[in-house]
Amino acid sequence: MTLSFDLTTEGARDALRARATPAEKPSLIGLTRAELGAALVASGIVPERQAKMRAQQLWHWMYVRGVSDFASMFNISKDLRAELDKHFTVARPEIVEEQISSDGTRKWLFRFPPRGAGRPVEIETVYIPEEGRGTLCISSQVGCTLTCSFCHTGTQKLVRNLTSEEILAQLLTARDRLGDFPDRDTPDGAIVPAEGRKVSNVVMMGMGEPLYNFDAVKKALLIASDGDGLSLSKRRITLSTSGVVPEISRTGEEIGVMLAISLHATNDDLRDLLVPINKKYPLKELIAACRAYPGLSNARRITFEYVMLKDVNDSIEDAKGLIRLLKGIPAKINLIPFNPWPGTNYQCSDWETIEKFADYINNAGYASPIRTPRGRDILAACGQLKSESERMRKVDRLALEAMMIAGHGEA
Ligand code: SAH
Ligand code: SF4
Repeated sequence: MTLSFDLTTEGARDALRARATPAEKPSLIGLTRAELGAALVASGIVPERQAKMRAQQLWHWMYVRGVSDFASMFNISKDLRAELDKHFTVARPEIVEEQISSDGTRKWLFRFPPRGAGRPVEIETVYIPEEGRGTLCISSQVGCTLTCSFCHTGTQKLVRNLTSEEILAQLLTARDRLGDFPDRDTPDGAIVPAEGRKVSNVVMMGMGEPLYNFDAVKKALLIASDGDGLSLSKRRITLSTSGVVPEISRTGEEIGVMLAISLHATNDDLRDLLVPINKKYPLKELIAACRAYPGLSNARRITFEYVMLKDVNDSIEDAKGLIRLLKGIPAKINLIPFNPWPGTNYQCSDWETIEKFADYINNAGYASPIRTPRGRDILAACGQLKSESERMRKVDRLALEAMMIAGHGEA
């Protein structure tokens, strides 16, 4: 069957445009309290003198109760709820896919509107339940501008930054799906920590370089850690960076979350090849920024991520170099077995080599957990996605998922 549109009139063209890009109501998720109050006043539905009170009320519904429509906000009058619904939304993004591994690892494929990207964008969020905690691995960008040579995301161009709303939406939707808001049930059979919150930790270790999207990431993480809202402890939020040095102190001062550094090499020659941002911000500057990280102490250590690449960075000499480099910095070292992808020249170090490396580091007094792969069965199945929109190729997706799960931090 052929579908045709009469595009000879302006009206028909407008109608088609409206169908292609339905007018989006602005979301109230991801605004600061002040912005929220200002948006309500600007819409003309809340008088200036009520702005603060209304913003507080909405904040509670959105972030403590986790509601995703205005209709459930019972202490707000019906008329105002209807007005809010006319102007704004607090809805969740489209979940294109949810997959659950036999070990309880879950991943969601979310779709967000184009917002300048030309087409809707899709990103993935992964939940990793463990004894005593549940970690959510969140993305900050669609694609990445950097080109780390062992990372498949690095071969994809940046499509766009995620907004603060989209960063928070990953957390809110994951908590919805896990029944992690008051008066919600956890789905039968879900693997979650036995006690406490289902999402107890957040790691900014998904797609993208969070410090190249500083403002949106900052806003989202300040909302995620707000004590009258989502209330995640800043000690349970870890931001991972490839080493955007100028933003590292700002991360400590303005956001105050735990820091992870994608180190991967202990000399500039090798790090230039593996993590090319090193040419701009070499190790000396990176390590100085780490030493000066606000709030650093033995109780608040920096996590150094180190991907194990066969015959590249996995010798005992490298382990010695690592210890020398990190001397005096309260640090944890997170060894990540390399996840190979088609076309890569790298291989994962042998298990024996990884264990020797880990032993050396342990003996030098550092905790150095090796990340065990999780959710393998759903990784294998994740290529079964419909194809019409701007999706990553299956190999890109597999590499990204494994990376998100592998590098999920120790915080
Ligand atoms: N872009 C940020 C956040 C990503 S965090 C950063 O680079 O820090 C995910 C971690 O997985 C990073 O340490 C990244 O270097 C690492 N990683 C990337 N590709 C990988 C691969 N193929 N195998 C294992 N780890 C990988
Ligand atoms: Fe980007 Fe991080 Fe991958 Fe480097 S490791 S290309 S910074 S996502």
